[in-house]
Amino acid sequence: MKITGKTKVVGIIGLPVSHTLSPLMHNSLFSFLDMDWVYLPFEVRQEALQKAIFGLSALGSIGCNVTIPHKIEVMKYLTHIDEKAKRIGAVNTILFKEGEIFGFNTDGDGFTSSLKDAGFILKDKNVLLLGAGGAARAIAISLQDMGIKRLSIFDKERQKAEDLAGSIDNVDAICLDKVETLKDIDLLVNATPCGMKDNDPLPCDISLLHPEILVYDIIYKKTSLLKEAEKRGAKIMDGMEMLIHQGALSFEIWTGIYPPIDVMRKAIL
Ligand code: NAP
Repeated sequence: MKITGKTKVVGIIGLPVSHTLSPLMHNSLFSFLDMDWVYLPFEVRQEALQKAIFGLSALGSIGCNVTIPHKIEVMKYLTHIDEKAKRIGAVNTILFKEGEIFGFNTDGDGFTSSLKDAGFILKDKNVLLLGAGGAARAIAISLQDMGIKRLSIFDKERQKAEDLAGSIDNVDAICLDKVETLKDIDLLVNATPCGMKDNDPLPCDISLLHPEILVYDIIYKKTSLLKEAEKRGAKIMDGMEMLIHQGALSFEIWTGIYPPIDVMRKAIL
């Protein structure tokens, strides 16, 4: 990598950021596409968030990703927020342009785009979403835009599932007290942190899984849920695909170029 007087700077703001794979993904694209750009990690404490955003803008950065714990708080410092990010209530991508600060959320569309890339058509499908937290909310809003038939939501805190179901339009959205069957479910999504640790309990009863279902666990590895689903003949996808596709959409916002997904995948796998 070469840094010149014209190198354009993008990056990620979060706490912590040392584990992030985003610099690898984006810098491999800059090098593959022979672009004089660099993507850097910025560890930012909550009390320094405003200064960090205004500072990046003042320094002429093109934009940045925003990750935990700043995705909601950062919205205060933006001059424009994209409609989808408003509906989700969180921002994961910022663009600095002509003194203005634009906020977007590519998490949910990254999720649906990864399914499209895998050849899975969402229209008229029945989806069961486990979890109703931040990631689930982004996914639910994007699923709604893809014209799914029904969205069932289960969270161990029923009120959270009800609140999320209540904010979904044009789709039959219901919340469950318990996952009792997966018989008519086409896509099962785990958007709970259950499975991050190897000894975590499974997020649902695996004896319900069947070969006609696609099981998508948004955790960044092959979790026990995915291993069990695969054993039962189901198709599986893991969180790396969502990560790659949300990154691709952020890349497009900054550069105007939709990047080669294979280059990103190769860089992080
Ligand atoms: P979050 O805001 O904490 O939401 C998780 C939700 O799941 C909470 O409402 C939690 O309830 C609920 N929950 C936990 N265990 C459950 C269970 N066994 N059954 C039903 N509901 C349960 O977390 P998040 O930010 O949405 O992240 C969720 C996961 O997605 C994390 O593992 C994160 O790493 C991953 N993620 C992946 C990507 C990607 O690009 N692949 C992007 C974002 C997040 P309580 O609050 O009561 O515990």
